[in-house]
Amino acid sequence: MLNIGCHLSSSGGYVNMLKTALSIGANTFQFFTRNPRGFKAKDIDKEDVSLFLDLAKKHNFEKIMAHAPYTLNPCSADKSVRDLARIIFIDDLSRLELTPGNMYNFHPGSHVGQGAERGINYIADLLNDILQQNQTTLVLLETMSGKGSEVGRNFEELKQILDKVKLNNKMGICLDTCHIHDAGYDIINNLDQVLNEFDKVIGLKHLKAIHLNDSLNEFSSHKDRHQKIGQGFLGIKTIEKVINHKALYNLPFYLETPNEIDGYAEEIKLLKNLYSH
Ligand code: FE
Ligand code: FE
Ligand code: ZN
Repeated sequence: MLNIGCHLSSSGGYVNMLKTALSIGANTFQFFTRNPRGFKAKDIDKEDVSLFLDLAKKHNFEKIMAHAPYTLNPCSADKSVRDLARIIFIDDLSRLELTPGNMYNFHPGSHVGQGAERGINYIADLLNDILQQNQTTLVLLETMSGKGSEVGRNFEELKQILDKVKLNNKMGICLDTCHIHDAGYDIINNLDQVLNEFDKVIGLKHLKAIHLNDSLNEFSSHKDRHQKIGQGFLGIKTIEKVINHKALYNLPFYLETPNEIDGYAEEIKLLKNLYSH
């Protein structure tokens, strides 16, 4: 069965997201833990959480994915920015323990000129500070397109972060199809080769989720602009290969395509038709 969901607004709470997901044929969803371009988070409604947990179980829901705000920059040269990232991270992870066993995805951040190596050290330091042996949430590093001074623009950089994290059994990778295409991994012509390389550098067992997006820009553009499924440079054939690939087909897929709910419903329907397992 295709495990698929899309990005949803969290403003109506967990039950609301779950019901929306069910209504469009999804068995999971992704949401922002707080305002993605700021830091404000809503108070968690315990009743909403407990009803969500019941419903998720009843409907056999796949793991859900929380996404950290974009403004979080754990590898900034500015200590106050890194400190803020730490505060947000700790708060997000403690809130996520109310819905145990799910995933928290974040962008490694931008090193803004101090060099990737320094950025990588800051990210690993932060993770070593905040990860707890008894946490149930898996923390995922997202593959980035390499725009500006983004860290995580190739598999090697992500591997270097993982290697420096002590509790790296609490960590994994989320692969974004738009981002790696934009970063210069040719999944249109060489999907097998790209995944072999992922396996060689990081190890496929660390791959925990896919952000399934088409790309508005051409190969190796380092842009990071998502497009609707089948309407971008990746095209429907590549997307079809991705969801059916033997290394990927069991993973949860999350759409972050430029769509309203109706558009997501259409894409999920299309993807289910293309899924051959
Ligand atoms: Fe992301
Ligand atoms: Fe993404
Ligand atoms: Zn993106």
